Amino acid sequence: MTTTVEFTCERPGCGEIGTRRTGCYNRAKRKNAPLYHSRACAGLANRAEPVSDDVRRARKRQYDKDRRAALGDRLRAEKRERYAANAKAIYVRQRARMDSDPEYKARLKAVQARCMARPEWKKHKREYDMKRRAVGAYGPFWEAYMCMRQVEDEIKHQQTGDSNVKADSGDAQE
Ligand SMILES: [Zn+2]
Repeated sequence: MTTTVEFTCERPGCGEIGTRRTGCYNRAKRKNAPLYHSRACAGLANRAEPVSDDVRRARKRQYDKDRRAALGDRLRAEKRERYAANAKAIYVRQRARMDSDPEYKARLKAVQARCMARPEWKKHKREYDMKRRAVGAYGPFWEAYMCMRQVEDEIKHQQTGDSNVKADSGDAQE
């Protein structure tokens, strides 16, 4: 014959009386496991505290921040790799979305402006433009022209003692 034990539900605020087979009851006590009077009550007891969206967002922000701090270099390298592999497709997609979504366009433009304000970009752009102009004007001899320009700059630099010769001075036509 199976015996049963009556107990008070352990979910805070419930207080209902539940029944369990004695063996079942004893096992729970041995494991220090809580006893609930019904399945529904167990479900409620195991349910996570409801969390507001603000708290959830703050947690996610912190998580992302910690993750960036721990794995930032790897994540950035992976991102760069993915971009390099799909640059063309990404460009096409961005263009299409820019045309249909002004807010997206503004956001992208802001990122672009930040990138273009970097000294590395300005240096690259200056060199790129110089090369483009040299190729346009001198075709296959553009390298010879660039070399000559460098020599000229050097001479000018020595003559004037000017410590900051602009790399593209005297190239204002166009
Ligand atoms: Zn209960």
